[in-house]
Amino acid sequence: MVTVNHNYLKLPGSYLFSTIGKKVKAYQAEHTDARIISLGIGDVTQPLVPAIIDSLHKAVEEMAHAETFRGYAPDLGYDFLRNAIAKNDYQDRGCQICADEIFVSDGAKSDSGNIQEIFGLDNKVAVCDPVYPVYVDTNVMAGRTGFYNTQRENFDGVIYMPCREENGFLPELPEEVPDLIYLCFPNNPTGGAITKEGLQQWVDYANKNGCVIIYDAAYEAYISEENVPHTIYECEGARTCAIELRSFSKNAGFTGVRLGFTVIPKELVRDGVALHDLWARRHGTKFNGAPYIVQRAGEAVYSTEGKAQLKEQVGYYMRNAKTIRESLANAGFSVSGGVNAPYIWLKTPGKMTSWEFFDYLLEKANVVGTPGSGFGAQGEGYFRLTAFGTYENTLEAISRIEKEVSL
Ligand SMILES: *Cc1c(COP(=O)(O)O)cnc(C)c1O
Repeated sequence: MVTVNHNYLKLPGSYLFSTIGKKVKAYQAEHTDARIISLGIGDVTQPLVPAIIDSLHKAVEEMAHAETFRGYAPDLGYDFLRNAIAKNDYQDRGCQICADEIFVSDGAKSDSGNIQEIFGLDNKVAVCDPVYPVYVDTNVMAGRTGFYNTQRENFDGVIYMPCREENGFLPELPEEVPDLIYLCFPNNPTGGAITKEGLQQWVDYANKNGCVIIYDAAYEAYISEENVPHTIYECEGARTCAIELRSFSKNAGFTGVRLGFTVIPKELVRDGVALHDLWARRHGTKFNGAPYIVQRAGEAVYSTEGKAQLKEQVGYYMRNAKTIRESLANAGFSVSGGVNAPYIWLKTPGKMTSWEFFDYLLEKANVVGTPGSGFGAQGEGYFRLTAFGTYENTLEAISRIEKEVSL
């Protein structure tokens, strides 16, 4: 008799963004002339920059001729891309990461979901609350957690690290020592960033206690302040305790193109085994390489023109972030984020729950955001707006909120 993976049945309800989608669709059906603006889902809107498009065109043309055609890519990534990543993202920042410690993939969502596979099922997981849901859900699917606790609105057997206003939206070192610690900075959903000294404390804690930090740096390109680390390998000792996940989605608009990478230093050993070798084994068995043309597009991200064009693109989104943050603060909202990340985290006015504020904002201003409670119990009473819209839509959405939402 076939049985299913019962761990999947522990997952509650529908996925956050499908619930939002249904609510918006229902509202639009009843209000056909409403022009709804979404500052909700974390998808980019600006087209790929010319340097990347040129590189894609060239690579496509190579595929048209027998002499330059490419079949299966190397499992772990083409050298031209791994070298560009190692040099630009790490060595130029003074971090000793080599090309063969970089594993190219189709994105950070897959990597952040798959990385747990190389760890035993008895590992205890710690996550921030609120959190990017992939870290928790994939550990639930694997059977590394207990059941969903409807009262606490989270899973038994997981260490949740609250990120609230009181602690500057940053997690505190957990009293109960976990095995795996997921950290994401700059953060989705709160938009918060950690200082280099702050992150060093986590690295020291992990080395002291034998933990592994899984560090998601998908928003690294949005860092604007001096003392905020671009990679965890800026911290001393990170090579013996940290895995880093990176994506081309947010810095270069690859959400539909698909490219990312994972860094595992060779010194990172647990249970007598180099995690680098386990991940190489896993990657080689289950993944057949990111597409050649996409890896060429990724290489262009590091070209002189690519860098200049992407700096401008990130600047475009960060102008939105500044507009949202400053306008809402002036209107009396309590806001954070938006300085080193394309997310603004606002406290819902009055005593509204996150979903009440969602409905209220949709109705009054025809603006869609993301309820903070969708990212975890501690996100209740908060709301996420993204800077990924067009500038025009962002201005329009903000002016509607200023006009229609009374505090
Ligand atoms: C968007 C995002 C990613 C990137 O996912 P891709 O699969 O590379 O598109 C990773 N982590 C977080 C926290 C994100 O918000």
